[in-house]
Amino acid sequence: MARVYNFSAGPAVLPEEVLEKAADEMLDYAGCGMSVMEMSHRSSAFKDIIESAEADLRDLMDIPDSYKVLFLQGGDSLIFASLFMNLATNGKADYVLTGNWSKKAYAEAQILGDPKVLASSADKNFTYIPDCSDLPVRDDASFVYICENNTIYGTTYPELPDTKGHPLVADQSSMFLSKPVDVTRYGLIHAGAQKNVGPAGVQIVIVREDLVPDDLPGVPTMLRFKTQADAGSLYNTPNCWGIYVCGLVFKWIRERGGLVALEEANAEKAGVLYDFLDASALFSSPVNPRDRSLMNVPFVTGDSALDAAFVSQAAAQGLVNLKGHRSVGGMRASLYNAMPREGVEALVSFMKDFEARHARDAR
Ligand SMILES: *Cc1c(COP(=O)(O)O)cnc(C)c1O
Repeated sequence: MARVYNFSAGPAVLPEEVLEKAADEMLDYAGCGMSVMEMSHRSSAFKDIIESAEADLRDLMDIPDSYKVLFLQGGDSLIFASLFMNLATNGKADYVLTGNWSKKAYAEAQILGDPKVLASSADKNFTYIPDCSDLPVRDDASFVYICENNTIYGTTYPELPDTKGHPLVADQSSMFLSKPVDVTRYGLIHAGAQKNVGPAGVQIVIVREDLVPDDLPGVPTMLRFKTQADAGSLYNTPNCWGIYVCGLVFKWIRERGGLVALEEANAEKAGVLYDFLDASALFSSPVNPRDRSLMNVPFVTGDSALDAAFVSQAAAQGLVNLKGHRSVGGMRASLYNAMPREGVEALVSFMKDFEARHARDAR
């Protein structure tokens, strides 16, 4: 069976080497005679899996010992609430709104307390990142929240906001492990695995230990970060299979030279598509050039019938999941770590061909 080039925003393409390794070990993991899916989360084999996943992640991101690494469940949609419950103990936190995901995080905070919007790019359909050099952060804000890479709109922060000394909390789901980041600049980083590092069902939370309260009256056990921090993410049964595949992806990244090498490859890959878009008479990028994401690249022709024809003809060529999100329209190519450069080259070559066939009709 031929594999396609999968440009899905998530769940998304995984490295073929990782899928092959997981297939090899499917029936018999490391001589255990059973699949990872069948083993106790208390077994020594699984203990090795989760501990080496954490160690590899710490190594890749250079995570200081003063930060906890948690493998959680419930989707980032639950983390939006739990991080507010854990970190905003006075009910106050300040948000920058740059798309659907930060809006959802803010909406959860509105249910739970008194959040404030510091800045928003809603005025131009989230096609840019607002100026965050002098935000009106409240003195008593527990943290400043951003969605660092906006999966739907294809924007990313060119530099981190000035939080005026308050902890920065970032949703890194669609850029996690795509480049080196300085963990010490964050109070908390959260990311769903299903974009860049594994199957759906695992949320990775990296949190500064001193921000995790010991006691949280009224907050259920499973929503307290302290519960899983104390238990090494094994308070209850975790997503064992998901954590295992994340661990294989971490090893795959290490083998490829780590995050510096990946960032270089990702910038080159995205450059192939952006260079073409900037020169094209038919396709264009709606995103402010300074704020363009290397991971998610929306593009449009300006004609929705032509967009639809493009998406279906591309799929027939094995270039799949290119339909844009309904709030942007057009197309979107997600170019996560596991998308090979050849995939982007195949996409651009198809776009050139499509343009040659259709440019005249579009005008
Ligand atoms: C995909 C995505 C999420 C996903 O949330 P789930 O609840 O895990 O589906 C959250 N934030 C961002 C930035 C995303 O790209």
